[in-house]
Amino acid sequence: MSGTKVLVTGASIAGPALAHWLHRRGAEVTVVERAPSLRPGGQAVDARGVAKDAIGRMGLDAAVRAARTETEGAYTVDADGNVLETFRADDHGGDGYIADIEILRGDLSRVLYDDTRDHVEYIFGDRIADLTQDADGVDITFAGGDRRRFDLVIGADGLHSALRAMVFGPHEQFVRHLGLVLAFFSVPNEFGLDRWLIEYQDKESGRSALLRPIADATRAMAMFSFPAASFDVDYRDVAAQKRLLRERMTGLGWLTPQLLAHLDDSPDFYLDQVAQVVMDSWSSGRVGVFGDAAFSSSPMSGQGTGLALVGAYLLAGELAAAGWDPQAGFAAFEQRMRSFVEANQEIGRMHVQSLNASGADAEPAPEPDMAAITELVERAINGVDLPGYEGLPDSRGAAAPPTTP
Ligand SMILES: Cc1cc2nc3c(=O)[nH]c(=O)nc-3n(C[C@H](O)[C@H](O)[C@H](O)COP(=O)(O)OP(=O)(O)OC[C@H]3O[C@@H](n4cnc5c(N)ncnc54)[C@H](O)[C@@H]3O)c2cc1C
Repeated sequence: MSGTKVLVTGASIAGPALAHWLHRRGAEVTVVERAPSLRPGGQAVDARGVAKDAIGRMGLDAAVRAARTETEGAYTVDADGNVLETFRADDHGGDGYIADIEILRGDLSRVLYDDTRDHVEYIFGDRIADLTQDADGVDITFAGGDRRRFDLVIGADGLHSALRAMVFGPHEQFVRHLGLVLAFFSVPNEFGLDRWLIEYQDKESGRSALLRPIADATRAMAMFSFPAASFDVDYRDVAAQKRLLRERMTGLGWLTPQLLAHLDDSPDFYLDQVAQVVMDSWSSGRVGVFGDAAFSSSPMSGQGTGLALVGAYLLAGELAAAGWDPQAGFAAFEQRMRSFVEANQEIGRMHVQSLNASGADAEPAPEPDMAAITELVERAINGVDLPGYEGLPDSRGAAAPPTTP
């Protein structure tokens, strides 16, 4: 059945990517975004392996590459700034620590939005206030007062998804904090930073500081992380968050004092716990959740965007292949996607553990099993098949041929 009406919540990465594929498979798509316009900002996000294939299949390879950050690589340093290890963007075929496709979240969101805006209805500054589903459809009341009926509703509204809370249960049931807090803010580039990211880790306390180049070369992005088993600072109380950051960074060496000196005059500041979302099922009747809302792997996996891009292709494909039957379509999607998600969530947890404080008197850590880690990374980057979906409608039949990862 073509013309199936689908409502997607959230216009960041997962929402517009899903809208692209739903439209191509013949659905009528509406995206509702709570923010009054497309949200700019965010750090760099990466596309590796099969996610690059997904971008190619969308026909967006050139547009995404044109908007890349052009970071050339990264190096780790000791407290005196001596280089310990170097990682280049072309290491591991562009799928390494600094990916060949590294793009600011806001820029990727813009590329996906521009690509879909002529075929998809976008509603900004609104959200779902009420939802009731029956066997044939879902009735929606928007906060702005409109009432409409859709065949399917899919929440791509991020880690703190309101749709998930409305249909599946409270956040605490699904959001797993990994015991690490992440903060970032921009600073004047008085450090001579040029297309290279510098990272300092204090293994003893489990804290790290990092400086990243950004498009505006007169500035740079400072990032800090520190372990925190519990966390009770209100996410709207920025002054308290800054106090917490200063307190926790006391005594951390390298450029930390110079970076923190800019904390109060930085125009942007973000601090939050690193968390994942774990759900037994990503759908309930005609309502599904998708992207970070369903399976956030955390920024520490470096793969949240990849999961959204790959998942968008598969979810739209499986729903269309099932004739838009929600039960069959959502189930087939989960079957294809779940082990790929789990590998990426494991990478996120391992990364946090690798930063864990060792303490001055700690026993030396056992040697890591490199063969197992290599196998896990390969599964996290390439461990899912993208079927051709020949025979399904494709409104852009002549799209660019897929690139091979
Ligand atoms: C401002 C911002 C900055 C980010 N920065 C980074 C970063 O630096 N590094 C990183 O790895 N990841 C970052 N992320 C997360 C990253 O975008 C995701 O991991 C990944 O790309 C998957 O995205 P998503 O679309 O599922 O979720 P998100 O990118 O979180 O997007 C969710 C979208 O839903 C909207 N929304 C929320 N509630 C509602 C509602 N009730 N109704 C309608 N819309 C709603 C939000 O405004 C947002 O646009 C950031 C996300 C945002 C929104």
